[in-house]
Amino acid sequence: MTPPDGRERRIRKLPALLVNQIAAGEVVERPASVVKELVDNALDAGATRITVDLEGGGIELVRVTDDGCGIAPEDLSLALADHATSKITEAADLDRIGTMGFRGEALASIASVSRLSMRSRRAADTAASQVEAEGERIGQVTPAGGPVGTSVTVRNLFFNTPARRKFLRTPATEQGHCLDIVETLAMSHPAIGFAASTDGKRGIDLAPGQSPRERVVAVLGAEIESQLVEVHADRFDDSRGLAMWGVVGLPSIARATAKAQWVFLNGRPIRDKSIQHAIKEAFRGLIEPGRFPTAVLMIEMDPGAVDVNVHPRKTEVRFRDQSVVHSVVLRAIREALAGADLTPSVAGIGWRGQSGHGSAGEDRAVVGVGGSPAPGGFVDYFQRQPAAPSGERLSFEAIREAVQGGSTDPAASPRAAEPGPIDQPRPAERVLQVHNSFVVTQDEQGIVIVDQHALHERVMFEDLIARISGRGGTDGQPARLESQRMLVPPVVEVTRRQLDRLGDLAPLFERLGIEVEPIGPAAVAVQGFPTFLFDREVDAGPFVKELLEKAEASEFVPGSEEALHEVLDMMACKAAVKAGDRLTESELRDLLKMREEVERSSNCPHGRPTSIRVTIRELEKRFGRV
Ligand code: ADP
Ligand code: MG
Repeated sequence: MTPPDGRERRIRKLPALLVNQIAAGEVVERPASVVKELVDNALDAGATRITVDLEGGGIELVRVTDDGCGIAPEDLSLALADHATSKITEAADLDRIGTMGFRGEALASIASVSRLSMRSRRAADTAASQVEAEGERIGQVTPAGGPVGTSVTVRNLFFNTPARRKFLRTPATEQGHCLDIVETLAMSHPAIGFAASTDGKRGIDLAPGQSPRERVVAVLGAEIESQLVEVHADRFDDSRGLAMWGVVGLPSIARATAKAQWVFLNGRPIRDKSIQHAIKEAFRGLIEPGRFPTAVLMIEMDPGAVDVNVHPRKTEVRFRDQSVVHSVVLRAIREALAGADLTPSVAGIGWRGQSGHGSAGEDRAVVGVGGSPAPGGFVDYFQRQPAAPSGERLSFEAIREAVQGGSTDPAASPRAAEPGPIDQPRPAERVLQVHNSFVVTQDEQGIVIVDQHALHERVMFEDLIARISGRGGTDGQPARLESQRMLVPPVVEVTRRQLDRLGDLAPLFERLGIEVEPIGPAAVAVQGFPTFLFDREVDAGPFVKELLEKAEASEFVPGSEEALHEVLDMMACKAAVKAGDRLTESELRDLLKMREEVERSSNCPHGRPTSIRVTIRELEKRFGRV
């Protein structure tokens, strides 16, 4: 058969250069990929200091210099050959990858699309040696001067593949990506010094020997340190072989994109949908749905429990047990947030022109972590002992204690009641309802103003979650909400598509205590409704109608935790007292008591704050007393 272009097609082996260029298409997308591969190699070589120099955004030049183990002169040109690696020797090694690289294709791929030179010297060598490559041609290895370690210089990226070069962005953009990747890799290797320069100017300078926390703060910026909460999971004891350390940002520093989220698996930066989802889920109700929390999570697990050889760039991984990872991440972040005081203070939410960051800093120090509760490199520790139970690591409680009680700096521990105008604070002693919408009371730190609807909604939501996430009865089935049969079942008009979805929704409805029966081609009858909504006088008909409309319009996948939460949100919102509802003295007290009971009560499930605080300090300042 003759192909459309009329040329005869024969099968032949592709020339090596073309093979490498095709491989480079997967591995080397832009200068930042070169930086990543070369820094990975330096890390694998045991470097203690790594320097990255960039020119023209890395398009003209990327040079990575390390003080690692170096390469033998006789291996130098082999390092540039395709599928040449010193890191694995047999298939079984793929099940226990402990290095950043292992595919043996990075240098060959980069060399095929650039002008590459490499100089290297081992400690035992009297001099360095070097080799140059350009496209297909690998030059002779020649002696050279230079210190112990390796320096790889990559010039004119994609000079011989103009189509690829066209896809590069401006040097400034490419440079930004290069520096991002240096910072990313630096975060998971706090013991190693990193420096980067751009066109001769120093860009990044990170000292060696930092603790994981110091390094993360150095990268994220000291100014947001007080907005970070530490996250820990030491779950080696329950044989999951997974541990995590990290920080998450308070809702106040959430962003419009996921750019401020870093997830590392055994030191390797990864992108994982399910972990991203767990982060989002942990912040549910604390930030608006469209925003992304800041998070740096370092996960360590047995290399055998995860496959990193899924993608040439090694940024995607496959977990043997995805759901364990999801639940550990979710739980650890929730615990961390529960231990943090999330009530934004007036000074912190911009009720007035910000005068310096003094007072905001003090108020926010409630959640800041003084000192460094996790001494010693997290990653380093686990590299020595991949999946052993640990006596050395601090438990979550110990850290929490350290955070809340250990500081000697009064500004950093506002929980230790300061002597102030109120000597014996008795929380929630006097309560005032303002305009039938807000509840005003006091706590140790000052005045607390509560949005009655938002708080009640939050309380209801927490309560519903607690009721429904337990295991019900003896059959071990998930718990259900108690349901009540309707004496006069309301009839709801529905569309064809809504009717079609009823089957899908049945298990969800059953858990929620909602019973719906089709009674014709365009109507359903609500036979059962959750007792709790009934008690709160929520109308069953309109509620079910709205629920079906939502299900028809969206997104939400019945059976998913998200769908469940979405409906619980809706229930909480409908059942909660409204702004404008007049509350009795005892209802007000009940509401505030609930506030003390629910953790994380400072935002409603829609992310709006439920309460704000005006601190005594703030009042004193405004009245000119300090
Ligand atoms: P991989 O990292 O997957 O093994 P590469 O093509 O990146 O493949 O590197 C090939 C080999 O070259 C490595 O296995 C290693 O032995 C050697 N090598 C590369 N860079 C360095 C370096 N900076 N220091 C020491 N050896 C290196
Ligand atoms: Mg490599």
